[in-house]
Amino acid sequence: MSARSLGDLPPDALEGRRALVRVDFNVPLAEGGGVAADTRIRAALPTIKYLREKGARVVLLSHLGRPKRGPDPALSLQQVIRPLETLLGTPVEFIADPVAGVAATRRLPRGGVALVENVRFWPGEETNDPELARTFAALGDFYVNDAFGTAHRAHASTEAVAHLLKPAVAGFLMERELRYLGDALQQPKRPFVAVLGGAKISGKIDVIEALLPRVDQILVGGAMASTFFLAVDFPVGQSLVERDKMDLAKAVIARGGAKLILPRGAVVAPSLARAAQRREVPSDRIPTDCAMFDIDQTTRLEFRAYILRAKTVFWNGPMGVFETPPFDQGTRAVAEAMIEAGKRGVVTVVGGGDSAAAVRGLEDKFTHVSTGGGASLEFLEGKTLPGVAALDAA
Ligand code: ADP
Ligand code: MG
Repeated sequence: MSARSLGDLPPDALEGRRALVRVDFNVPLAEGGGVAADTRIRAALPTIKYLREKGARVVLLSHLGRPKRGPDPALSLQQVIRPLETLLGTPVEFIADPVAGVAATRRLPRGGVALVENVRFWPGEETNDPELARTFAALGDFYVNDAFGTAHRAHASTEAVAHLLKPAVAGFLMERELRYLGDALQQPKRPFVAVLGGAKISGKIDVIEALLPRVDQILVGGAMASTFFLAVDFPVGQSLVERDKMDLAKAVIARGGAKLILPRGAVVAPSLARAAQRREVPSDRIPTDCAMFDIDQTTRLEFRAYILRAKTVFWNGPMGVFETPPFDQGTRAVAEAMIEAGKRGVVTVVGGGDSAAAVRGLEDKFTHVSTGGGASLEFLEGKTLPGVAALDAA
């Protein structure tokens, strides 16, 4: 699945024209308002800066949070204006009403930037309403989608509008996502190792199924591993398991064969709060009164060795409860091994919301850290992303 890129548009398609750009400014908010982390704003800068340099007039669309019914001042994109102005070094015009805002977009100078209010303030956004899409389309002369994180949703600002406003192309961030989650993992340099963890098998089963035929190894960690332990009759104590997914786990074990590598041992404790009582046990010896909260040292070294022997590594899902040190060690060990492998030219890709959070601040040490949680997984599963499908074909 690929789309025509912004970089392919000739200069006269950009110069003086209004670019309607769907970005992902769904930033984390600070308590009491304001932007808590500007990672997502920064991620959109290459596309915005390129358009400005080419003399386009830039009109940005985004959602922010999940407004329940209509406008919610706490979720206004107004609070993104300041950080965006600082990062761009130019004033940004705020368009509170997309209908009345058309005039403002026409007044924008070449290289000028405007940001429209939260698209989810209008009920038609999430129903992919053609009427709302027409309203959005009137704000630009061509369309750029740089919001990979919402590309798996058919919404008015991601899908319907792309049919109305042509050309409709992928921004640079979107292009990167498609390249690294697409080509790099569809035609991987081998050995191709996937590291999967996280809380549940249920949300990841389609990813496992999609990856199994393509990978050389799948290294399993996280709470997901305990459901596999259950499937091979190991006692799991108080570990987080999905008993109703045991048969699914059995089927994956049967199909995966030697490709599927389960942890050899676990870090267990009576509870997260009683970390002082933690110890390492072999995977078939998890005590009745304890839960597995991380992979043990032996497993970390084994996973590290697999990662360093690989040519392509994809990682989704923390190896343990990384939010609560010292149970972050397995997750950190995988991150460190991937960073080291990356220095040797291995392609390293991280996908998933919590996994991306676990490597925050280290993004530039990986080949690619996906900005799309759900979207990156759906893409890997081979599903069509409506926001990509609606763009012009490459
Ligand atoms: P991602 O968002 O990267 O796809 P998930 O949402 O699937 O990852 O899983 C992340 C969560 O899994 C984290 O909150 C982490 O604490 C939890 N987790 C990982 N290992 C364990 C474990 N052994 N027991 C309980 N929770 C775990
Ligand atoms: Mg998650």
